[in-house]
Amino acid sequence: MAKTNKPYKSALQEQEGISPPESLSSDSAESIKAKRKKQPSTKDLVKGITSGNITDLSRAITLVESTNQKHTAKAHDIITACLPHANKSVRIGITGVPGVGKSTFIEAFGSYLTGIGKKVAVLAVDPSSTLSKGSILGDKTRMEDLVKDKNAFIRPSPSGESLGGVARKTRETIILCEAAGFDTIIIETVGVGQSETAVHSMVDFFLLLKLAGAGDELQGIKRGIIEMADAIVINKADGDNLKAAKSAKVEFNRALHLYPEKDSGWSPKVSLCSALKQEGISDVWELIQDYLKTTSTTKYFQNNRNNQNMFWLLQTIEERLKSDFYKSDKIKSELKNQIELVEAGKTTPFAAAEYLLSL
Ligand code: GDP
Repeated sequence: MAKTNKPYKSALQEQEGISPPESLSSDSAESIKAKRKKQPSTKDLVKGITSGNITDLSRAITLVESTNQKHTAKAHDIITACLPHANKSVRIGITGVPGVGKSTFIEAFGSYLTGIGKKVAVLAVDPSSTLSKGSILGDKTRMEDLVKDKNAFIRPSPSGESLGGVARKTRETIILCEAAGFDTIIIETVGVGQSETAVHSMVDFFLLLKLAGAGDELQGIKRGIIEMADAIVINKADGDNLKAAKSAKVEFNRALHLYPEKDSGWSPKVSLCSALKQEGISDVWELIQDYLKTTSTTKYFQNNRNNQNMFWLLQTIEERLKSDFYKSDKIKSELKNQIELVEAGKTTPFAAAEYLLSL
């Protein structure tokens, strides 16, 4: 499968009303400049987003993803203005190894949801796209039907970022999508490094897609992922694979009983589906409905969102302090000196750190 950003990028430009690069466009530099100047104001963007305008939503997300400080400030104002309109959604994280059928599942699940009147936004947390120059959602053709669906919005992972950066931008994008009226937010991750943990801490419901193996279902799964999962959905439960999928279900169910009860009061469920044949898709949605009922009764749903906000607040402070520290020219040169002193045995790492922090 070709994993390239190209088709996506041109679709993005279309969405945002941006003209293609100069080599493809007959526009002069002057007219490009003039078009850029016509970028809508913060107020107009907020108005557009809250009335469900996808072009404005895409433009605002581009500002969120930008590293330009002016854009960051504008993005911040837009998010603040959008906050009162956000929060009215269910946020679902989906993870699984490459090839398990994530995009096929999201295509089937997303289409099912728009079919029952939902508005679905699909985002991704994929820090690996920085390395591979492609994103898990980069090739929009992976979700052919959903891309064309007026009630769905698909946005790949911001590229060129660390996990922390991708995660923050995705969280802000969630707020914008909610303000634009999307009531179901799906966040896909391939689970590289810590990205599953990052996604888990920004969603209400965490779904692990699995394949049936030859009796070794529980091997090779990171223990932490099972603990995070609210549901394990065994995909490709079709054809010759159905029997193995059924026995995998039994095995996962047995294994889940060995885990301590979750704070949410919810016992994780195992379910079968065939994303390709679109079977078992509504069961997954019903399961999520049950989860929402349980967790709103126990107030866990809201408490969890509050805790997540607190976590992200502290995380943002930490990241900002760290990046400001290392960005400072004084620190850059002094750090070099201190490293040399430590290497020469003339100071200790702790004394060097104390000294740098006191600057
Ligand atoms: P991803 O890498 O996790 O996003 O996986 P994809 O959605 O790209 O699917 C990988 C391959 O598995 C593709 O060839 C799909 O057609 C196939 N596939 C996905 N879901 C199913 C399913 O339910 N049954 C079968 N038989 N094949 C599937």
